[in-house]
Amino acid sequence: AHPGAYIKHHIRTVPDWPAPGVQFRDITPLLSNPKVFRVLIDMFVHRYFDAKPTAIAGLDARGFIIGSVLAYELNVGFVPIRKKGKLPFTTVEETYELEYGSATVEIHTDAVKPGDRVVLIDDLIATGGTMMAGRKLLQRLGAEVIEGACIVDLPELGGSDKLRASGLPLFTLVSFE
Ligand code: IMP
Repeated sequence: AHPGAYIKHHIRTVPDWPAPGVQFRDITPLLSNPKVFRVLIDMFVHRYFDAKPTAIAGLDARGFIIGSVLAYELNVGFVPIRKKGKLPFTTVEETYELEYGSATVEIHTDAVKPGDRVVLIDDLIATGGTMMAGRKLLQRLGAEVIEGACIVDLPELGGSDKLRASGLPLFTLVSFE
């Protein structure tokens, strides 16, 4: 089967979580099964082996899990972009709108530098707001975001279209309509 289909088969859909009407796409079964976990990570490794990014940046919190393993395999550093209030050193922050309210993400000011070529990774793109904010932080520190990557795209929410329209190339493994 197509590797994307194999991955998709192992994503669990949880109805009405965290709120009624939401179909939560749960990637934890991809992590607990060692064979699936390896296939998953290898798909990202193959994608970025030749591109030679200088760092992988991961979005809080599931982007840390796949991003750190990818960085290790590519022999480059890993940079966490965290929800506000978690990073101890000097940070820059970016606030973005959610359906109800807003969210703020932060990065350490010395996490990347001008000339760095960074892949930004998360588990899922919905409205695209989280990845857009992460990209802005990396760009503010002078890094180039060569691609955004995720396991799951929810194209009906328009986030991946919006990100691509803003000039960010995207690599997504699985879509749920
Ligand atoms: P966005 O900012 O609207 O694109 O939402 C994406 C962020 O919310 C990512 O950090 C995801 O981890 C999280 N997220 C939203 N919906 C889901 C879901 O169904 N499964 C897993 N994560 C989700």
